[in-house]
Amino acid sequence: MRLDRYGQLKPVVSEARGFSELCPFSPDASDEDAIARERFGSARHYDPLIGRFEAAYVGYVREGRYRAEGSSGGMASWTAVELLDRKLVDAVAHVVPGSGDGTALFRYQVSRTVEGVRNGAKSRYYPVELSGVVEEMRRRPGRYAVVGIPCFIKALHLLCAQDPVLRDRLAFTLGLFCGHMKSARFVESFAWQMDTPMDAVTGVDFRLKNASRPANWYTAELRLKDGNTRAKDWWHLVDGDWGAGFFQNSACNFCDDVVAETADISFGDAWVEPYASDGRGTNVVVVRSLVLQELIARAVGEGRLDLKEVDSAFVVETQAAGFRQRREGLAFRLGWPRVSIRLNKRVAPRWRGLSVRRMLVYWLRSMISAGSHRVFWLARRLRLPAVYIRWASAMLSLYQGVTYSRGWIGRFIDRICR
Ligand SMILES: Cc1cc2nc3c(=O)[nH]c(=O)nc-3n(C[C@H](O)[C@H](O)[C@H](O)COP(=O)(O)OP(=O)(O)OC[C@H]3O[C@@H](n4cnc5c(N)ncnc54)[C@H](O)[C@@H]3O)c2cc1C
Repeated sequence: MRLDRYGQLKPVVSEARGFSELCPFSPDASDEDAIARERFGSARHYDPLIGRFEAAYVGYVREGRYRAEGSSGGMASWTAVELLDRKLVDAVAHVVPGSGDGTALFRYQVSRTVEGVRNGAKSRYYPVELSGVVEEMRRRPGRYAVVGIPCFIKALHLLCAQDPVLRDRLAFTLGLFCGHMKSARFVESFAWQMDTPMDAVTGVDFRLKNASRPANWYTAELRLKDGNTRAKDWWHLVDGDWGAGFFQNSACNFCDDVVAETADISFGDAWVEPYASDGRGTNVVVVRSLVLQELIARAVGEGRLDLKEVDSAFVVETQAAGFRQRREGLAFRLGWPRVSIRLNKRVAPRWRGLSVRRMLVYWLRSMISAGSHRVFWLARRLRLPAVYIRWASAMLSLYQGVTYSRGWIGRFIDRICR
């Protein structure tokens, strides 16, 4: 995998044997339903949006500093540490800050100690890839847990179907809910907007925690080589509206898995009140493995976790925007004329029933995603950040006018739609 000119990781060897059954977006690969049926065939619950599962929860880690150090309620790191502590795995593959040498800001690491796992806490909206992890799993025997977004977890299961050694060694998959993945230019854009040269940046915290502010008021913090930091709230950044889709990978336009349906357990943010307003962070957790279900139930009984059982409707509500984009929005996008591959999704192409305004929202989001890569590339070539920032600012006003009726564009669209 190599970064392309837009700062997105792309495979350089796409003719490798079995590739078309391996790529999670390939029409030749098994879909999430088929993988989950094989892995969790006797799960207690099924929901068309959440998939098969044993139990779902909302809450956070009570013990230690997992919650304070995590992006959300700290459950992902806690679970990974618990697996190591109880010797259910020998190693955890997850994403940690890069070496600070000016190359990638984040990378996958195979951690074999509790400290190693804990140092990797927090969400990274930054391109990463699994080749080193797969190599280490093949080379060094043991039981591994891997943390990843839905398409990564699906790809691992597809790989395991081809590779008995990996199948034997992959003991647990820990999924992160996912809205979409960003390109490496997302951070560069932050740097431009914080008047900081990118080569002065050694690290980034996409979601600086502040217990006294709502959890969904994101603040990004850049760490600089000279020891200083720069921070800005996402809503003061031209590309900080997650829903507008700036720098989104194009593959994410064709994903229908929000909650990592093929993972043994998955973690997201509880984006409903009162949890969304609690700056300390609150997870939603979907458990599919019986071993993990027992582990969690015991820890709740011991008072180490503060989790309340919820139903699938609650989990869906916490990800309402993600599901709209990946069901209704996906059905709309699948209906667009396409000359290349015929995709094989769990959603059928459909335009009917959508209001013109809703179609406009989905169309704008796609245009912003595609446009942001290209306009940023041009601005970078010209060394003129303003080219991108002005374009992004105009697109943001358009998007927010159409979507949230904001500003004069919103009033105008409201009048037409009435
Ligand atoms: C690209 C992306 C998009 C997301 N979109 C949504 C969303 O739409 N809705 C939602 O509710 N939640 C989303 N999440 C998940 C959310 O941000 C939290 O990661 C999740 O709630 C777990 O929080 P935590 O406090 O339990 O995890 P923590 O205790 O902070 O641990 C996070 C773990 O995930 C690993 N990790 C971080 N980034 C990555 C990555 N890119 N790939 C693989 N592993 C990683 C870390 O190394 C660490 O082990 C997204 C995460 C990512 C990375």
